[in-house]
Amino acid sequence: NSEIRESIVIPRYIRVNTLKTSIKKVIEHFQAKGFTHEEPTDDLKSIRPKTIREDKHLPNLLILPPNMDLHEDALYLSDDIILQDKASCIPAFICSPPLNSHVIDACAAPGNKTSHLSAIMQNTGKIWAIDLDKHRLNLLKNLIQKAGCKNVEAIYGSFLDIDPMDQKYSSVGYILLDPSCSGSGIINRLDHLIDTSKTQEQSDLSHKFKEQRLENLSEFQEKMILHAFKFRSVQKIVYSTCSIYAEENEHVIKRALDQTDLFVLANKDDILPSWTRRGISSEINDDKGIAEKFIRTSPNEDYTNGFFVACFVRKAVQPINTK
Ligand code: SAM
Repeated sequence: NSEIRESIVIPRYIRVNTLKTSIKKVIEHFQAKGFTHEEPTDDLKSIRPKTIREDKHLPNLLILPPNMDLHEDALYLSDDIILQDKASCIPAFICSPPLNSHVIDACAAPGNKTSHLSAIMQNTGKIWAIDLDKHRLNLLKNLIQKAGCKNVEAIYGSFLDIDPMDQKYSSVGYILLDPSCSGSGIINRLDHLIDTSKTQEQSDLSHKFKEQRLENLSEFQEKMILHAFKFRSVQKIVYSTCSIYAEENEHVIKRALDQTDLFVLANKDDILPSWTRRGISSEINDDKGIAEKFIRTSPNEDYTNGFFVACFVRKAVQPINTK
């Protein structure tokens, strides 16, 4: 057990808030503090102390040694950098709405991905950031204000109550959907995978509880995707969870796909092609090879939290043959 526990140590990832600064300036800041700027690497297992490197897959993401406490760092205090795990930066990067887009962040609080979207859009266009938890939405309001996001409107309520026919949302082309999930991929919640102290009875009970919980969550997640499909101008829907369970990931996407004629999954080439860990094919009837269009991250192998990302795109309209 201790071997697994010890092996799950992830680096300190920092996302550069490009609304306020640049990656060059952040690197210079750490160099001035005695850090060495090293080449990007796949080997994140043993990062030397006082080194900084750019991430190999995502722009504006820097990697420092694990357990670095940056809470007193000037760039953290000014929101020039955001402490955000690499895996959690993948959804907004894949969404990448062009400048001036209209975007819905359907489950937005506390706002890490909202502020990432805002930075990618360079504060142009409009993001409606929705969440039904008032306390968390207040955290989002605070975060976006401090991070300098000026294109975000926070909305308190359920995404399921947002009317897709409302004129206000008629130009929404992009939806980020990061719904509540089991959180089973988050490193400090991974203990459930290695807890062997339970009696058989306790273990059966918690298994039953887990199954029921996953069923409830996956029904909710599916409902959220089907609701996102209803927005008439939406071109791209990025779905993500910080869960490692297929019930909340491959299974949900497969069921949603089976209920739409309007959306397909983005091709592997359009969704971080350099990332090799893809969906789990054996979890679904994968005769169409859709699992390779998903992204998975694994704490043990990728040195990030466990995440899942899928991207729906609207099918191209076929020209009508009038002959
Ligand atoms: N995207 C956020 C970020 O990156 O900071 C994290 C989102 S968290 C995984 C899921 C959020 O979904 C929670 O804040 C929860 O309150 C919200 N939520 C749950 N059901 C919702 C619904 N029906 N409509 C809108 N938000 C919902």
